[in-house]
Amino acid sequence: MAWIDTDALKRDHPVEEVVERYGIELRDSGCALIGRCPFHEDGGRPNLYVYPITRSWYCYRCGIGGDVISLVERIEGVGFREAVTRLTGDARELPGASQCRKRRIKRPPGRQTPWEPEERECLSAAAELYHNRLLTDEAALAYLAGRGLGRDIMERCCLGYSSGDELVNYLCRRRLPIQAARRVGLLRAGGCERFTGRVVVPEIRSGQPIWLIGRTIDETLGHPKYLGLPGSKPLLGWETAKESAGVFLVEGVFDWLTLLNWGYPALALVGTHARPEVFSKLTRFEHVYLLLDSDEPGRCAAENIARRLGPRAETVRLPGAKDVAELATHVDGHAVLAHAIQSGRNLAA
Ligand SMILES: [Zn+2]
Repeated sequence: MAWIDTDALKRDHPVEEVVERYGIELRDSGCALIGRCPFHEDGGRPNLYVYPITRSWYCYRCGIGGDVISLVERIEGVGFREAVTRLTGDARELPGASQCRKRRIKRPPGRQTPWEPEERECLSAAAELYHNRLLTDEAALAYLAGRGLGRDIMERCCLGYSSGDELVNYLCRRRLPIQAARRVGLLRAGGCERFTGRVVVPEIRSGQPIWLIGRTIDETLGHPKYLGLPGSKPLLGWETAKESAGVFLVEGVFDWLTLLNWGYPALALVGTHARPEVFSKLTRFEHVYLLLDSDEPGRCAAENIARRLGPRAETVRLPGAKDVAELATHVDGHAVLAHAIQSGRNLAA
C-alpha cells in the first residue's frame, strides 16, 4: 500500500455509515447526527456528534474528534495504515495474509454483503457455536430470562452467546479459514471475538445467517451495548414476516424478539433510521403497525415513516412503557400491548 488518497477514502466511506457499522445508533439533529460515544460511558444525553457535511465526528465529553480514519484507529486500537485497510475491507494487509491467495474483496458501501462461500460458512459456524454455548451458559440464559425470553424463542431465532474464547478453535476444528472469519468481522486482528460477552442475534435468510448483532449482558464490561457486524444493517426478521398481510415495525432487537415471542409478525429497523430500501420492502404489506419507542426520536421517526407509507401505516402508542422490550418484563405486558394495538385499530376505524 503506497500513497493513500484520504479525500477519496472519506468520500467513499461516509463517517456516519462507519459509525453505524460499529453498532452506534445515530439520530438526526439539525446538521449533525448524534449518538453514544464509544470512548466513554455515554449514559445520559449522547455526546457523539457526526457531521456528514464536513465528514467529521466529535465527542463533546471526551473532547476528541477527527475524520473516519481516526475513528477506526481509535475504536480498533490500530495505526493509520491498518485503519485504512480495515476501512476499505482490503484483506491483503491483515497480519499473516501477505503471501495469501486471497482475492481483494471490494464491497460497495451500504449494500448487503454477498459473502464469499467460506465467509458464509464461517458465519454459519459461529452462529451454531454461539447457539450451543448459549444453551449451557447460565449467565446468558439468566440475562435472557430477565428480559422475558425463554428457550422457545432462543431456538426459533437461533440466539447465541459468545464466551469469547472458543471461535478460533472451533473454526480450526471445522477446517474453516480464520482469515475469512476476520474478513466478515467475527474476529479482530488480535484474534479476539467481536461478540465476547454478548448475546448474539443472527439475521437468517434461506437458512443462513447473513449478519449478526450482539448485546452485552454486562453493561459494566461490554461497550457499546449493541455491536453489529460491519456492513449495512438488514431489516431484521424479513424472511418470516414477509408473507404476512400486516407487520409490526420496531426499533430494537429486543422489541423484535418480544413481539415474535408473543406471536406477532415483526420487523426491526435496528435504530430509527429507515433506509430507502426499507420503504420499498414495507410497501408489500397491507398494514404496517409502527411500534417505535415512545421517546422523541421514536415519535419523529414514526411520523416520518407514516408520512412516507401513507394509509397502510398505523402508529401504535404504548401506554406507560418506553418500548416493547420494556413490556416484556411487566406482569401483564402482553395484555397491555394487545390493548394498545386494539385501541389503535378502533381509532383508525
Ligand atoms: Zn466520548
